[in-house]
Amino acid sequence: MSAAPILEVSGLTKTFRDGATETPVLKGIDLVISKGEMAALLGPSGSGKSTLLTILGTLMRASGGRHEMLGVDLMQASDAQRTKFRSRHIGFVFQFHHLLPDLSALENVMMPAACTLGRETRALRERAAELLDAVGLADRRDYRPSALSGGQRQRVAVARALIANPDLVLADEPTGNLDRQSADQVMELLHEINRTMCTSFLISTHDEHIARQCPRRIELLDGRILRS
Ligand code: ADP
Ligand code: MG
Repeated sequence: MSAAPILEVSGLTKTFRDGATETPVLKGIDLVISKGEMAALLGPSGSGKSTLLTILGTLMRASGGRHEMLGVDLMQASDAQRTKFRSRHIGFVFQFHHLLPDLSALENVMMPAACTLGRETRALRERAAELLDAVGLADRRDYRPSALSGGQRQRVAVARALIANPDLVLADEPTGNLDRQSADQVMELLHEINRTMCTSFLISTHDEHIARQCPRRIELLDGRILRS
């Protein structure tokens, strides 16, 4: 039985325009991601990985093509609809953790959902604590990012990405800044979340060692999919 598609793009293009200068970056991307899938997005620097993830995450609009997720036409959707969709369905992990330095690990995990709700709730605090448990940081809840190791910070960032129980997590070189051992721990964690929560993952990397840990690989070269 094949899993249901959650994300479908076809003929997706992105051209950056700056005055008279046009830079075509994505040149017609066709891609389907299914529920519970874990895929590596591979490609050399400048091939368009971050641009694609930013568009799939609805943080930027494509120039053309089709972009649907969970039956919603995200090309036609308004900015407000896209923002609401993103907060409900998509989580992000970046190369740099982007944790807020003055907040504790727990507060950092709660932050995106607290912003969406406009307040902190006890349920949210409990969910954040559970997620920190799940990423192995139960005893670090009250620590600020500066008191955590690189790998631990990235695990907080993973917990934060999961706070709204997203269908898809987009991770842009999530291990790019970590040593091999911490990188492997973060990858193991993503696998475990993928198995237990059935969250789909699209993980960009230029590291073969990381890509080999994903069941599917999607190769990008110069704005086109070479293999998927
Ligand atoms: P990757 O993540 O694979 O390294 P990127 O998606 O960051 O690649 O970049 C792909 C190409 O798009 C690069 O040539 C980059 O210079 C160009 N690019 C990215 N963002 C912009 C922008 N805002 N304006 C113009 N060109 C951009
Ligand atoms: Mg990039």
